[in-house]
Amino acid sequence: MKKKVAIIGSGFASLAAACYLAKDGYKVEIFEKNDTIGGRARQLKKDGFCFDIGPTWYWMPDVFERFFADFGKKPSDYYELEKLSPAYKVFFGDEDSITIEDSLDKICAAFEAEEPGSSMKLKEFIKEAKVNYDIAIKDLVYRPGVSPLELVTPTTAGKIGQFFSTISKEVRKEFSNTKLVQILEFPVLFLGAKASNTPAFYSFMNYADFGLGTWHPKGGMYKVIEGMEELAKSLDIKINTNSPVSEIFVENDTASAIQVNGKKIKAHYILSGADYHHTETLLPEYKRQYKESYWQKKTFAPSALLFFAGFDKKLENVTHHTLFFDTDFEKHAKAIYDDGEWPEDPLFYASFPSITDDAAAPKGKEAGTFLIPLAPDVEDTPEIREEYFQKIMTRFESLTNQNVSDHLLFKESYCVKDFKEDYNSYKGNAYGLANTLLQTAFLRPKLKSKKVHKLFFTGQLSVPGPGVPPSLISGKLVAGLIQKED
Ligand SMILES: Cc1cc2nc3c(=O)[nH]c(=O)nc-3n(C[C@H](O)[C@H](O)[C@H](O)COP(=O)(O)OP(=O)(O)OC[C@H]3O[C@@H](n4cnc5c(N)ncnc54)[C@H](O)[C@@H]3O)c2cc1C
Repeated sequence: MKKKVAIIGSGFASLAAACYLAKDGYKVEIFEKNDTIGGRARQLKKDGFCFDIGPTWYWMPDVFERFFADFGKKPSDYYELEKLSPAYKVFFGDEDSITIEDSLDKICAAFEAEEPGSSMKLKEFIKEAKVNYDIAIKDLVYRPGVSPLELVTPTTAGKIGQFFSTISKEVRKEFSNTKLVQILEFPVLFLGAKASNTPAFYSFMNYADFGLGTWHPKGGMYKVIEGMEELAKSLDIKINTNSPVSEIFVENDTASAIQVNGKKIKAHYILSGADYHHTETLLPEYKRQYKESYWQKKTFAPSALLFFAGFDKKLENVTHHTLFFDTDFEKHAKAIYDDGEWPEDPLFYASFPSITDDAAAPKGKEAGTFLIPLAPDVEDTPEIREEYFQKIMTRFESLTNQNVSDHLLFKESYCVKDFKEDYNSYKGNAYGLANTLLQTAFLRPKLKSKKVHKLFFTGQLSVPGPGVPPSLISGKLVAGLIQKED
């Protein structure tokens, strides 16, 4: 008889784990609380517009290729990918912006124009970043974080200094132009912490940015979820939506079943891709590995205030991905990581997928997603959301030199309360537990419970960390650990 695995949640990590387990002969069933799958990567459709609610940047295409190749497939079997050109644009003030093009040579030219001599330094920096990428993304991140020894290899031994220096220090050693520094520090924001708190080794994110480029799946990131759903169904995985798990049963120190909509469902293994903190609350208290005080001390990735807006015209002076770094980055970071407050003058990010993708908006119209990173658990009211929408719209209009307010057809907002309600997210975090030095690999919450046999975890609060590519890898890692148990 096939052993059964019951999986909580249907985000990238759960779907990936499900596919690996099913391929290896397990009977897999997924239980998702929401009415659609995809977790943080769900989709919002309104009046002919289509928005990705969560991830919008498709980076590290090789990780997606490796995932599908494990099943004899390619991303192109499920969705069409386009390399964005330009990759993105960064505003630093009125009539002051830098466009990041789609090749290192073009990016070097932009750096040189900003700071003479910087292009040679950039080439060297990216060369080192590529070495780190090859070590990290092709090898280290595929280790399950069970032991510190996993990180000790002949190649990492020579890199030990990079674990004790930070991205911020290394970038500032070479570059003095503030704008170039901000651009080089931007990619680590995906890891959830400040560049000054992120090990220099993580410069592999800069290689992902400038070396591998920014891609877009036609139809949006949700196309990747749909591709994984198709793969999952071909592997006979059963997916249940509207199925919140309200309890994990433990018998003789072993996870034996879950409670879903009043029904007890037995399984040989329970795997949770829901937020780690939440999953542990489904257990009796004495079976939880981490106390509330543990979670409170951790550095969480930010939460976010998002707006999904439909405009009745095409917008000008923006690219598919546009960053607004025209205010004090340090002050905003302090509000997020030190003070736990709303930032006074926030930096923000905007995405206009309809510039490159007709599926995102009706003809002649523009879909816009605006995102302000926030401290987890800040007060969230309709009034505060509106105040911040007005703040960023005023700046947006001035920086991009156009009126958009009169062309707004609708806007939907999404913030801390929604993250909590929709995903049972701890403090409303948007993308998990940050990858700081003390929250890397074996120092992260474990994939396998230390207190309950046959209970496993996956996803952005566990190993290896936040982001879509790490979530795919997390699913593979945990499936490997389950297989090892048998
Ligand atoms: C606004 C935003 C922007 C982002 N941008 C990017 C980006 O551009 N690029 C990138 O790579 N990454 C980005 N990320 C991060 C990326 O989306 C996440 O790291 C990834 O999607 C997390 O996947 P996961 O499987 O770990 O968790 P989730 O997607 O959170 O999946 C967990 C699932 O568990 C379900 N669940 C919770 N509790 C229960 C329960 N009791 N019973 C049943 N189901 C339950 C939830 O509903 C959810 O579906 C972004 C995230 C956000 C929020």
